[in-house]
Amino acid sequence: MLLDDARDTMRTESINRRKNTQPVRIPQISPISLISLLYALSLYIFYRQGFISGQTFISVAAVVLGFVVLFYSVFRLGLNLRFEEPSLMLPQLVTSLLIMLIVAYLERATQIALVPFILIAFSFGIFRLSTGSLIGLSFGCLSSYLAIIVLRGQAEGFVDAFRADLVQWCVLALTLPGMILVGKQIQNLRQLLRATRYQLEHYEEKSARDELTGLYNRRQLQTELEQVKLQADTSSIPFTICLIDIDRFKEINDNNGHLTGDTILKEFAKTARDSIRDTDVLGRYGGDEFLQILPDTDLKGAVMHAERLRVYAHFLDFQKILAQKHISLSIGVAQYRNGEKITDLIARADAALYQAKQLGRNRVEWVSSE
Ligand code: GH3
Ligand code: MG
Repeated sequence: MLLDDARDTMRTESINRRKNTQPVRIPQISPISLISLLYALSLYIFYRQGFISGQTFISVAAVVLGFVVLFYSVFRLGLNLRFEEPSLMLPQLVTSLLIMLIVAYLERATQIALVPFILIAFSFGIFRLSTGSLIGLSFGCLSSYLAIIVLRGQAEGFVDAFRADLVQWCVLALTLPGMILVGKQIQNLRQLLRATRYQLEHYEEKSARDELTGLYNRRQLQTELEQVKLQADTSSIPFTICLIDIDRFKEINDNNGHLTGDTILKEFAKTARDSIRDTDVLGRYGGDEFLQILPDTDLKGAVMHAERLRVYAHFLDFQKILAQKHISLSIGVAQYRNGEKITDLIARADAALYQAKQLGRNRVEWVSSE
């Protein structure tokens, strides 16, 4: 039960960390809008070179601008969040492909720009759309393009230009599936990478925890100590540690069995964890010894906290499993001295703990920070 609680905490911490590091952000101007703008820009070159009329260019530019403004407004107002796929990749792709195909139909000269722009547009769709949608979209795009070629062939007679159009269509029909295939491979690799990163995080989290209590283990405590030391050295904000030891725990084990001892360690860990601030760090230092790190806390504050924890622990009711009903704690407190080694800090807390034991146990002792 306690371990489950600890695992829940770990999972929540891990999720929060992911939330913090990977905010969900959908761009305001989508890549497809940008591609459509580039397409409009390329039409300007066609216009400047006299391949299309100014009127055609202005009409297409107006349609593209309308498309960009429409999707920009949808994203800006958050209306896209109402859809299952909030990037609206499919409707955006369909609209931009339709614009390009219609222009290619109306202005044969622009057909040369069609294939590269279709390929670029698809390359963005690959990462968002399902394979089914991509195949459907490719089919729709290729058949519309073919229809345009045949319609034009009918109007102009099936001359050489028609054969050249067909060759271009064949090239697109062959490259599009190849591109989707490559895109899917990349997508699979990204998924694998994400899963591996998640697993790695999970193992990192697991290797930092003590199996029995779910608290940080000694190795992780060392890491945390080095971190707070670094902060304290740069900011001069004090931090304090409490070395907490259960009194006569060996006797508890001897008289009540090792399993009872384990239950007491778990129960105590839960109480201690619930009693600390979010910024504090608590871990199992070894055996029946725990270490608490209190950042931004001076000796006086830490002693008060240690006293409160001692009283909490004393009121834990072990009537059902323990002959003496209660446990008691001895706690040694030491405040970090700027620049000192972590081992020296722990040694001072240990000396205070030893003093507490010598003075009869069930008490808090501290060493001066001077
Ligand atoms: P003191 O008041 O001086 O601290 O006496 P103590 O008996 O608590 O001191 P000591 O350090 O000699 O005893 C610690 C005991 O904790 C000895 C060891 O068998 C027991 N212990 C260490 N790890 C575990 C564990 O994971 N589970 C259980 N049940 N006991 C453990
Ligand atoms: Mg002990």
